[in-house]
Amino acid sequence: KPMEGRITDIGPREFTEFLPPVIKANKGKWAYHEILEPGVLVHVGESGDKVFTVRVGAARLMSVTHIREICEIADKHCDGYLRFTTRNNVEFMTDSEDKVAALKADLAARKFDGGSSKFPVGGTGAGVSNIVHTQGWVHCHTPATDASGPVKAVMDTVFSDFQNHRLPAPVRISLACCLNMCGAVHCSDIGIVGIHRKPPMIDHEWTDQLCEIPLAVASCPTAAVRPSKVELEGKKINTIAIKNERCMYCGNCYTMCPALPISDGEGDGVVIMVGGKVSNRISQPKFSKVVVAYIPNETPRWPTLTEKIKHIIDIYADHAMKYERLGDWIERIGWEKFFELTGLEFTQHLIDDFRDHAYYTWRQTTQFKF
Ligand code: SF4
Ligand code: SF4
Repeated sequence: KPMEGRITDIGPREFTEFLPPVIKANKGKWAYHEILEPGVLVHVGESGDKVFTVRVGAARLMSVTHIREICEIADKHCDGYLRFTTRNNVEFMTDSEDKVAALKADLAARKFDGGSSKFPVGGTGAGVSNIVHTQGWVHCHTPATDASGPVKAVMDTVFSDFQNHRLPAPVRISLACCLNMCGAVHCSDIGIVGIHRKPPMIDHEWTDQLCEIPLAVASCPTAAVRPSKVELEGKKINTIAIKNERCMYCGNCYTMCPALPISDGEGDGVVIMVGGKVSNRISQPKFSKVVVAYIPNETPRWPTLTEKIKHIIDIYADHAMKYERLGDWIERIGWEKFFELTGLEFTQHLIDDFRDHAYYTWRQTTQFKF
């Protein structure tokens, strides 16, 4: 709560200020909800009040012009109310079915210059919803892959499943562009995770000037970083050394010390993980597991990645029982059968805590615990 008399713009305003009146009036008193068609939901209160929600796919990084257009739609059809979901969908809510029809017609009429839909309705129920992702090359400093690029390529490939309910259960796809995983990849039906495969380079010329050397040493979870001295142009300088065979390419030292860049065109790429979920329906929540150990960054359209994800979804759609999430299905049939059905190659890189000397520090555990 702001201090008495103090004017501040720090922190968000109280969220209840932004709730549509019908939601405020029925808070805590909802009787049930259902999905009327892909992308359209109705919530019914004990009072009989109804809220209709139209969900549209949106990008995580948006231009101001696009946000203004979203607000204009909300002003026109929803008394100015809208919400963004955690999966970067936009939800327009109205309190009458008539308004839904007008809203849907308006959304369908709005197109990009190329003719594709600006506001595709979908992302609900037993389909693919928007892909949660992290910053990628556009913003963060430790990514091993891009975020917006592969997400756009994957979403284009599976887009029909955004707008239908042909799958047995929801499929939630997420992408994190490094092992820090600031996206919810570890509990996704399908997770895409960027991995580095080479130790950081050491820019000795700058280590002493850009880095707190003790901090760089302390940042390494495997104790691969130690203080060192090198001779540069006849001068002894303080720097660090890295024991490469201990390095697991996490990039933590680079976060502390900008003179240790880790991005590498040849070494970097992605892994695919499957079978995680947050829901406790049918079975307990579970972590995703690595099923493809490495795919290079094939810019700009990531063809291998998109083909494999589409293939996994199609095999799941053909074999799983209704309501079974990807991980529930795999656990029922067994992981061996999953690899047999999908034709994905099973290698030693997929084994949790594999201890071969050459891979001692490259532990592709399901949890990515180090
Ligand atoms: Fe940065 Fe890693 Fe998060 Fe990607 S996942 S935005 S590289 S911290
Ligand atoms: Fe240590 Fe990670 Fe840096 Fe390798 S990348 S040296 S494991 S902090």
